[in-house]
Amino acid sequence: MIWLDTTLICRAAGSLCPRCGQAKIYKSRFDLAVRETCPSCGLALARNDSADGPAVFLIFILGALLVPAALLLEVLVQPPLWVHAVLWTAVALFLVLGTLRPLKAYVIALQFKHRPGDWGG
Ligand SMILES: [Zn+2]
Repeated sequence: MIWLDTTLICRAAGSLCPRCGQAKIYKSRFDLAVRETCPSCGLALARNDSADGPAVFLIFILGALLVPAALLLEVLVQPPLWVHAVLWTAVALFLVLGTLRPLKAYVIALQFKHRPGDWGG
């Protein structure tokens, strides 16, 4: 599909700079704060404007996946409510912690691709 840029997806999966793909865009391994500039190519990463976009996308995606899964579990197994509370909290936390950084990197990469004027040349 034309809107899927595999280069951007691969760079976002590794949280790499959307322009050079050589350096990480985050300040630390467990942080969502983006570096001021890419240490490899000098891209002004602080000019990104991803805002709440990645979190909103993740809410929609995980909601579409987890709510039907919880309903299916209830219909098939009918576990006690505490099982739902523990299970889906753990699953949601695991998925959010595993996907929020790459998703934010992808939103930043899409902004870099489609709005290059925002990055100072
Ligand atoms: Zn770079």
